[in-house]
Amino acid sequence: MISVLRPKTTKELFEILDKEDKNYLFLAGGTDIMPSIKKGIEKREDLIDLSFLKKGFSGVYRDKTNIIVKSLTTFAKIQKDELLNKHFPSFIKASKLIGGYTIQGMATIAGNIVNASPAADSLPSLLTLNAKVTLLSSNGERIIELKDFYKGYKNLEIKNNEIISNIIIPTSDYQADFIEVGTRKAMSITKVSLAYAYKDKNIFLSAGSAFAYPKRLFATEKRFFEKDLTKKDFEIILKEDVSPLDDIRSSGNYRFNVLRNLVFSLYQELQK
Ligand SMILES: Cc1cc2nc3c(=O)[nH]c(=O)nc-3n(C[C@H](O)[C@H](O)[C@H](O)COP(=O)(O)OP(=O)(O)OC[C@H]3O[C@@H](n4cnc5c(N)ncnc54)[C@H](O)[C@@H]3O)c2cc1C
Repeated sequence: MISVLRPKTTKELFEILDKEDKNYLFLAGGTDIMPSIKKGIEKREDLIDLSFLKKGFSGVYRDKTNIIVKSLTTFAKIQKDELLNKHFPSFIKASKLIGGYTIQGMATIAGNIVNASPAADSLPSLLTLNAKVTLLSSNGERIIELKDFYKGYKNLEIKNNEIISNIIIPTSDYQADFIEVGTRKAMSITKVSLAYAYKDKNIFLSAGSAFAYPKRLFATEKRFFEKDLTKKDFEIILKEDVSPLDDIRSSGNYRFNVLRNLVFSLYQELQK
């Protein structure tokens, strides 16, 4: 039977989390967990409703070198935020592709990060922007690079007694973009996507629906500025980074070929 605990303060939340080492599900927007519970995909039945946190843990601010997005900020808020629009248009572009307006009004950035879907739209762009997550527990905070947060399929660097409190995105003068290939502009799950951020001869790359979990394309990044690379070369290089799966939306082979073409086009563009 499903049980939902509703702490009213962070103190109460951490008292619950510290009491026993239980793998609770946190109810943020509920757009991932509610359908998963209903379909029987999510077997955990102990929920903690985070709605009491929404006020304190929602919003965007800046410090000297970063823009900080509080964990329960919805994608609807993210899209309207001036700081994010000014500094990270690639992230805004990706955020606009998440579900439709109703989903965007509920879905939070922390939920997208922790759900860890290979197709999650915000993650490739956050990975190329070198985002970090702040993990909060009764012991205080620890900050970890998003690229180190994913260790395998749904295997995350987060303890049972921690929640994500902030997403930290360093400001930079890198040029960044996000390209999504899907059946239509909204309410479609991405077939494959590519995010990048570059400056001079440095590039950060990440792809959606290309691997079992969200990750950077380190092998491809390393060789990206070599001279005279061909499409065939990228086919070989990319195989070190990705292995897209078959599902009802696309075959792994199709995804791989599209991604290779996207990366090769970007290579040609940036060689000019
Ligand atoms: C119709 C529909 C369309 C969708 N379309 C897209 C799409 O196009 N692109 C896309 O990327 N996603 C899509 N999604 C998935 C979903 O909306 C997003 O992943 C969303 O960001 C999840 O956020 P949430 O707040 O609803 O998470 P929830 O469902 O509340 O939680 C998701 C997970 O995050 C954990 N969690 C939540 N907050 C925290 C926290 N602060 N700290 C630690 N763990 C936490 C929960 O325990 C749970 O494991 C879609 C979903 C639906 C139902």
